[in-house]
Amino acid sequence: MIIDFRSDTVTKPTPGMMEAMMKAKVGDDVFGEDPSINELENLTASMFGMEAALFCPSGTMTNQIAIKCHTQPGDEVICDESSHIYQYEGGGIAFNSGASVKLLHGNTGRINVEQVKAAINPDDVHRAHTSLVSLENTSNRGGGSCYDFNEIIKLQTLCKENGLGFHLDGARLWNALVAKNETAKQYGEAFDSISVCLSKSLGCPVGSLLIGKKDFIKKARRVRKAFGGGMRQAGFIAAAGIYALENNIDRLQEDHVNAKKIAETITKKEFVKMVLPVETNIIIFELNDSITAPELVSKLKLENILGYAIAPNRVRLVLHLDINTEMVNKTIDVFNELK
Ligand SMILES: *Cc1c(COP(=O)(O)O)cnc(C)c1O
Repeated sequence: MIIDFRSDTVTKPTPGMMEAMMKAKVGDDVFGEDPSINELENLTASMFGMEAALFCPSGTMTNQIAIKCHTQPGDEVICDESSHIYQYEGGGIAFNSGASVKLLHGNTGRINVEQVKAAINPDDVHRAHTSLVSLENTSNRGGGSCYDFNEIIKLQTLCKENGLGFHLDGARLWNALVAKNETAKQYGEAFDSISVCLSKSLGCPVGSLLIGKKDFIKKARRVRKAFGGGMRQAGFIAAAGIYALENNIDRLQEDHVNAKKIAETITKKEFVKMVLPVETNIIIFELNDSITAPELVSKLKLENILGYAIAPNRVRLVLHLDINTEMVNKTIDVFNELK
């Protein structure tokens, strides 16, 4: 039994999901004729109370399309320094949009209204034109931390006052909704565009959606084609997405409970310096000088437990659909025994 905590992207489709995929009605989506993709896009848009949605192969693509639609070359994007859009999208902000970034030092991935206010450039020819603020909820490098929704509303107001686009990288927004008992509609009212992933904690093999107003999504559809993301009979994967939205959201609570349980054990270990607060399905912990992150990851691997060294002294474990109670218990036992 391999217990794979490297990422919530490692899940395999369940029999129910496979059945939904096999039964999918499909067509050519570049012609707008794939009924399963149309259904998934409509379902997602209506969940968020937004006008339209666009199905894409990855969360990197949905974020990058959004940035392209919100900016002009030379513009500046404000985000946290640990943001996925900056750290893990291959330099895409510069590559795809010719935009620069202003990185803020947030609180475990979360930036606040005072920081953003101070980061907006004045209308001065010397300065880059600030055009977009991008948040990440939950924050990946922040250990799955969730925003306080009141702060999001304050940031929305600031963006409106300054004519800035307001984007959410919601790759794991589902986890935040469940953890904080919030609704998708609240988020739909707050942001100009939202990216959500189906391939993370919801257990789909592939797929993300960009959600926004009709004219924004129309523009995004054109950018998706230019980025090479126009798909044909991709309804087979969209059907997995519909299945996931209908069946796999409520169970995220289990992942959160299990993450807290495992973190309690990790906190007690002598070789652990600190554990970031566990709010959702991610555990990030820092080691003291007695062991490095790659060394600990190797030790765990000997017990068939896979983790990820995200820094020389930091390890990340992520809970997901394919981690069951037996695996959680074994992991706790292994940590209890570890010296
Ligand atoms: C995983 C992830 C994405 C998108 O990643 P893809 O692998 O391109 O789907 C975007 N943002 C965050 C915060 C993520 O964790």
